[in-house]
Amino acid sequence: MGRWDPWRGCHRCSEGCKFCYIHKGDAKRGIDTDAIVRNENFHRLIAKKKNGEYKTKAGLIYLCFASDFLLEDADQWRSECWDIIRERADCTFLFLTKRIERFMQCIPEDWGDGYDNVVVCCTVENQENADRRLAVFQNLPIRHKQITAQPLIGAIDMEKYLEGIEAVTVGGESDRAARVLDYDWVLDIREQCIRQNVSFYFRQCGTHFIKDGKQYTLQVKNLCSQARRAGIDYESKTETEGML
Ligand code: SF4
Repeated sequence: MGRWDPWRGCHRCSEGCKFCYIHKGDAKRGIDTDAIVRNENFHRLIAKKKNGEYKTKAGLIYLCFASDFLLEDADQWRSECWDIIRERADCTFLFLTKRIERFMQCIPEDWGDGYDNVVVCCTVENQENADRRLAVFQNLPIRHKQITAQPLIGAIDMEKYLEGIEAVTVGGESDRAARVLDYDWVLDIREQCIRQNVSFYFRQCGTHFIKDGKQYTLQVKNLCSQARRAGIDYESKTETEGML
């Protein structure tokens, strides 16, 4: 598992961006997140050792986790990324986006029905954005699709969009002023996934978390472990069978 950030920086574009961890981290270091900068190690993934092997091993690569891969400002650099993704067919590239409506203008000419080594993860945070983005997402030519609802800031009925989705990840918001996460919303999405046989992962609780009608304030360091303790992840039947 690795990470590749061809550029850094992003612009807030959605309610889910309110406590964006990139903006928060940059603010502490005095960096302007809205200045989009191509990283010097852009070609890191195709750098080779003296013996001809790639320096970066094959495997899962989290792509553009310091930005949004479909950001307008990066249009000039993306085709080079596709070249690298095509060359590194031994790696699987996963990126998240809140700009799925830009997808068709961002793909390479030979995309066809998708590259087998690219997983596109559409991010939604409430019903309004789920209806807007997932209606687009469900019709796009992508071989591997996932949905992330993190931060989840309201109940979402996404069941009608789950056909062809490989996994849904849910999580709360992390900040002292974060919006609450109601556990009932999490369980409801889980039920939708189970009914549609889609893998479901509860990644993190919210700083402010409601369970059984009672509100709790949790420490940031415990958000992921608390979610794990809930033990509610669900592996789709096909995936489980494939592992046997
Ligand atoms: S789209 Fe993602 S990376 Fe960009 S500001 Fe919003 S949360 Fe941050």
